[in-house]
Amino acid sequence: MKTSELIRKLPKAEIHIHLEGAILPGTAMELARKNGVALPECERVGDLYDYADLMEFLAVYGAIADSIVTIDDFRRITYEMLQSAAANGCRYMEFFISPHAHEGVPFARQFEGIRRGMLDAETEFGIVSRIIPGMNRELGPEAGEEYLDEILANRGDDVIGLGLDYNEAPYPPEPFTAVFARAAGNGLRLTAHAGESGPAAFIAGSLDTLKVERVDHGYNVVNDPALVARCRDDGIGFTCCPSTTKYTTTWRDLAAPDHPIRKMKEAGLAVTINSDDPPMFSTDLSAEFMIAHEALGFSFADLKKAILTSLEVAWIDDSTRRQWLTDWSVEIDAIMGTADRAG
Ligand SMILES: [Zn+2]
Repeated sequence: MKTSELIRKLPKAEIHIHLEGAILPGTAMELARKNGVALPECERVGDLYDYADLMEFLAVYGAIADSIVTIDDFRRITYEMLQSAAANGCRYMEFFISPHAHEGVPFARQFEGIRRGMLDAETEFGIVSRIIPGMNRELGPEAGEEYLDEILANRGDDVIGLGLDYNEAPYPPEPFTAVFARAAGNGLRLTAHAGESGPAAFIAGSLDTLKVERVDHGYNVVNDPALVARCRDDGIGFTCCPSTTKYTTTWRDLAAPDHPIRKMKEAGLAVTINSDDPPMFSTDLSAEFMIAHEALGFSFADLKKAILTSLEVAWIDDSTRRQWLTDWSVEIDAIMGTADRAG
């Protein structure tokens, strides 16, 4: 079996992916046309996700969010994201949503469509999924309080946590302390994008003041050895996304010996491999695992560990966790064993 095929077959969990970043370019063009939204001019469908810089990316992202309007639009993008993930061996997903990005579309309508897509995908592909609303840090903590009200009003058992995302570097975590505490008081689990374009201090701040249990990205942790030791001792889960580091961090070469994901793995941190915004960066979950294997120095044993770590830090109940850890481990060994026999 080819390595790429083997990696695709491995059972996986994805705990860092954004619904609005997972829209297929063909779907984005179709929905934009249907809903009368102008997208940037491009000759071929695939060119839609070809950006010269971050500003172009954000322009496309904003226009695409405006194109998702009806219940069925939300059902479709959710279903297609989960369908693609399932084709990559993904069995369980926790995904971020950005309901505030769809201006004028009531949260209730968005949740209804998303839930239909989750149900359809689980029925057809067996993939189980849960929702983490992401709070846009650029809008500030007051808007965050209103956002949390809306989330709690539309809450079901499928909404398991709260995240913090968008442009990190100018927006440290501390101002969001109160709103994150209120979310925790309402039973939501907590995570934050930190240490991606922001410094290691934003990771420490997210742990100390926001009380997050996981860190999304977290690459700049490598600049603070004491923080590395602390995160290792406390078993803090890091949701790493190899491809997007080329665009959003100072590390542009995935094969560089000082790439943070490589160093985080070598330091014994609880590293997981995820896809972030897969079609927008021409990738998918299997491709991210291939990059980990071929560029970031992950052996097969390291890949297995990353998969099992994603179950360790996933927000699932403990009996499901124990069952999946046992079952997946056996299955992964069997799949990897076929590679050994092939030599
Ligand atoms: Zn992200």
